[in-house]
Amino acid sequence: MKKTTRGMDIIIVGGGLVGGLAACALAKRGHRVRVYEYRSDIRIKEARGQSIDLSLSYRGRQALKLIDLEDKIVNHHGISMRGRMLHGKDGSLKEMIYDSVKKNTLYSVSRLYMNQVLLDAADEYPSVTLFFNHKLLEADLDNGKLKFSKTNTQEVIEVEADLIIGADGAHSTVRKMMLKRPGFDFSQTYIEHGYVELNIPPRMIDEKNPERGHEFCMSSNHLHIWPRGTFMMIAMPNDDHSFTGNIFAPLDILNGLDTPKKVIDFFTEQFPDVVPLIGSHQTLVDNFFMVKPKSLISIKCNPYHMGKSIILGDAAHAMVPFYAQGMNAAFEDVVILNELMDLYNEDMSKVLPAFSKKRCADAHAICDLAMYNYIEMRELVLKKSFLMRRTIDTF
Ligand code: FAD
Repeated sequence: MKKTTRGMDIIIVGGGLVGGLAACALAKRGHRVRVYEYRSDIRIKEARGQSIDLSLSYRGRQALKLIDLEDKIVNHHGISMRGRMLHGKDGSLKEMIYDSVKKNTLYSVSRLYMNQVLLDAADEYPSVTLFFNHKLLEADLDNGKLKFSKTNTQEVIEVEADLIIGADGAHSTVRKMMLKRPGFDFSQTYIEHGYVELNIPPRMIDEKNPERGHEFCMSSNHLHIWPRGTFMMIAMPNDDHSFTGNIFAPLDILNGLDTPKKVIDFFTEQFPDVVPLIGSHQTLVDNFFMVKPKSLISIKCNPYHMGKSIILGDAAHAMVPFYAQGMNAAFEDVVILNELMDLYNEDMSKVLPAFSKKRCADAHAICDLAMYNYIEMRELVLKKSFLMRRTIDTF
């Protein structure tokens, strides 16, 4: 790739969290950006995504700061979680503060809200155009050519760019194009565990006086964890005073809960304090069967660039969610790309290899840490020695 003295024409595949953030960061640098997203516009019609809320840490906040959105997202919308609240089977509670010295906290933020804010912010740049209902079919990475199908009409269009950014998630099509090329290493691991999302509704402040409104049914300043050895449940607070719970368990167990009775018995035995919070047995059952258990994947590859293209976020390093760093690390990719563009004065022939060199080893390490925390949260979380050492950057 040649050094560019003018703004580049950049195509970002994927208008998720990373696509939205990267569009803002690159437009801010003076480039022309087109974002092609498979789904319809989530600002108009909500699509049910991977998870409802996300834990935002220092890494992620630095990226939002880069595009001047930290204040809007964190201070106006984030719910501070200062530590973990561990729930024993006997109903006992144990608090673990993340950072009692500097008082840093994690923030629970709605995925939908954050994605909407990022797309709105991107839309405000005259040099950004967003295209929805466009699915990438294939790409010529050396020549910057891409083929999309319009999902509404099936029409196929061909477009060209100076730089292609694959921000198209764990099952990235841009990465599939890279896979065909010599020198591209790739591995993926599906773990034994999957997850089911559950809603824990707010409770009425005063049952006799509904006008007094609702409140959280547990402390809103904690990430709640029910560690149970081979499986666990977590819950994070939402803006509307509800919690989103996720039960992570071997798919054999989750798929085995195939009748209402099995679900009720399992929850009554394992999470007795959660059942009354969810409401009636029927609500629990309806909640549980709403969506099939989903699987979890960890992906490593090297390098992250090929020809005129680069992959960022889950496309490059999807990880299991137990370190709560998937999005945070993905956001950090954009910060690093931005720094390297500063360093090499937008000379992409230097920026892209430098990105792979700097990022692959770190991202692989975060994937490994996430996998390690997968065991730690379920088991070690109850061990005394572990309670002594926590860092702020994890669940
Ligand atoms: P995505 O969010 O997957 O976005 C990719 C976009 O590309 C999508 O909009 C998709 O429609 C689009 N796309 C895909 N294919 C195509 C195509 N062919 N053409 C056009 N567009 C396409 N991370 C955290 O930091 N903190 C957490 O607390 C946390 N919790 C999690 C909980 C769960 C249960 C899971 C599964 C993940 C969690 N993560 C968390 C990880 C986080 O969700 C991801 O790391 C993050 O969504 C990655 O963003 P992305 O933009 O790279 O990918």
